[in-house]
Amino acid sequence: DTLDLTRTAMGGRLMRRWLGQPLLSLEDLNQRLDAVELFAQDAFLRSGIRAILAQIPDLERILARVQTGVVLPRELISLKTGLEGRDQLVQQLDASGFTEASGGGSSGASGDREEEPPPEGSKESVTLWLSNQLPTVSDLTQLIEAAVAPEPSASVGDGNVIREAFSAELDQLKRASGDARSFIADLESRERERTGIRGLKVGYNQVFGYYIEVSKANQEQVPQDYVRRQTLTNAERYVVPKLKEYESLVLNAREQIDQLERDLYRRLCAQIADYGPVLGRLAAAIARLDVFAAWAEVAVNNAYVRPSLDQGNQIRIKDGRHPVVERVLPVGSFVPNDVDLSNDDARLLVITGPNMAGKSTFIRQTALITLMAQVGSFVPAAEAHIGLVDRIFTRVGLQDDLSTGQSTFMVEMLETAAILNQATSRSLVILDEIGRGTSTYDGLSIARSVIEHLHNDPRLGCKTLFATHYHELTEVASLLPGVRNFSVAVTEEGGDVVFLHRIIAGGADRSYGVHVAQLAGLPPAVVSRAWEVLKELEMTGAAGQVSNYASGKASRQASGKGSRSIAAMQMALFQPEQPLMDEVLGLDIPNLTPLEAINKLYELQQRARDS
Ligand code: ATP
Repeated sequence: DTLDLTRTAMGGRLMRRWLGQPLLSLEDLNQRLDAVELFAQDAFLRSGIRAILAQIPDLERILARVQTGVVLPRELISLKTGLEGRDQLVQQLDASGFTEASGGGSSGASGDREEEPPPEGSKESVTLWLSNQLPTVSDLTQLIEAAVAPEPSASVGDGNVIREAFSAELDQLKRASGDARSFIADLESRERERTGIRGLKVGYNQVFGYYIEVSKANQEQVPQDYVRRQTLTNAERYVVPKLKEYESLVLNAREQIDQLERDLYRRLCAQIADYGPVLGRLAAAIARLDVFAAWAEVAVNNAYVRPSLDQGNQIRIKDGRHPVVERVLPVGSFVPNDVDLSNDDARLLVITGPNMAGKSTFIRQTALITLMAQVGSFVPAAEAHIGLVDRIFTRVGLQDDLSTGQSTFMVEMLETAAILNQATSRSLVILDEIGRGTSTYDGLSIARSVIEHLHNDPRLGCKTLFATHYHELTEVASLLPGVRNFSVAVTEEGGDVVFLHRIIAGGADRSYGVHVAQLAGLPPAVVSRAWEVLKELEMTGAAGQVSNYASGKASRQASGKGSRSIAAMQMALFQPEQPLMDEVLGLDIPNLTPLEAINKLYELQQRARDS
């Protein structure tokens, strides 16, 4: 929704496809970025192009309908509109490219210089590149113009689809039928005059065809040559030989017109279908143009910048923003953040911080900015330097897959296994709260060993953002050189927590979970009891020693002191039996297959539960 400001159905489909197929080629990406930049810088060109695009129908769909023989005459008219749109697009592009080229040329340049190809990435070369992709189809436009009536009827066969002067035979038939029709139309007045019967009428029905109707009162004035066909209560219906003659002319002609028009239409469609390849190319080029202009529009509306790309192994983003979250927040209230990742230096960032502080938003925005850069879009940041990544792996959100009988945790582990097995040193890995789906101790162990593996395995060592609420993981940074701690800044004002959403160096030591519970509207009694338990835990320093519920005695003051020990107590709360712990520590994780690992985990968890 944020990126898709395309104006054509083809552009919308292409954008969706591109987002699913990021590129690895620097050259192709820069070509796309040049095009987006062209439209971002030239508002006049952008709005002109987008206005034309808005008039262009879904050429791919019409082409498919032509090829399957079900296209309606009106769709051919809109195909023609689309083809005319192509000419207007070329005109706009050429005019804008020319303006700059001639501007440069007029400053004393000789004629020779005009023949040199424009420098790569210049406005002239980009417009030239774009307009050269739009193949000429003027003979097809002319064919449709000549063959199809400007406002054709909905279905083929009534003679109102094929345009006059396209087929002499059809015109002849239509004339004959028209003459016969007007004979029949005039017959009424002529017969009234001849017979003197003022109420005489000429009519038509399915059973008897054309007839002359005379009321019973005027029967004696009916001439000899009238042949009775039908008697009604108040009238008689007659025919005359001449009427039947013209009737068969009309009916025959109608049949022939129907037949001939269908034939002509079928042949016309076959002829149009022959343009399939060129129409396909045109549709694809229009779709690309549409995506470029749309991304430029998005970039201008949301203050995105052109990312600078290379094949290096760094990702440096200054004042990066989440393209979706920033749109749902009041303007200007999104807090931008920097990120600096490099395979050679800080490659694995452990991001701790309270719930709701913005960890997920930060790591996701980094992945989104990288993805956007690698499809050729501008990105929501003040500056972005992206060393191309070969894949972006994400493990975010917790979802059950009940239909396949997999638990939340199982899904989490399967996805983590896939990442560890498939990522390379050039990948970007985003892991949000790994281990959240199981008990604290299991989760923490897995999270830590995943970090170590990502950091140490020679096949990996890839750029990784790891958001977690396990503050214990911050100690890894002091052990592994490529790991850095970051956290989300929070201040406390009079017992209230204020999330600043700013990512700062260093680890967090509190989770502010009870604050968030309070913000979410948990009943006051539950919140104050939680404070009470928390305080007791802080004081006793061990699990299982919390007093029984004592109403009314809850303290609502959270102590900032001893916050480090909360982490330790969280651990203590879930301290497993020693043998179990020994077994976890003794596991040879790098040599376990993912399946063995998961089975082992289940077994350990089961035993922990039983103990
Ligand atoms: P949890 O640990 O509970 O999953 P989290 O730390 O991952 O929380 P997010 O889900 O990223 O938190 O963010 C929570 C909310 O905070 C967002 O929905 C958004 O409204 C706000 N927020 C996050 N980042 C920012 C930011 N940089 N600027 C302004 N608001 C933000």
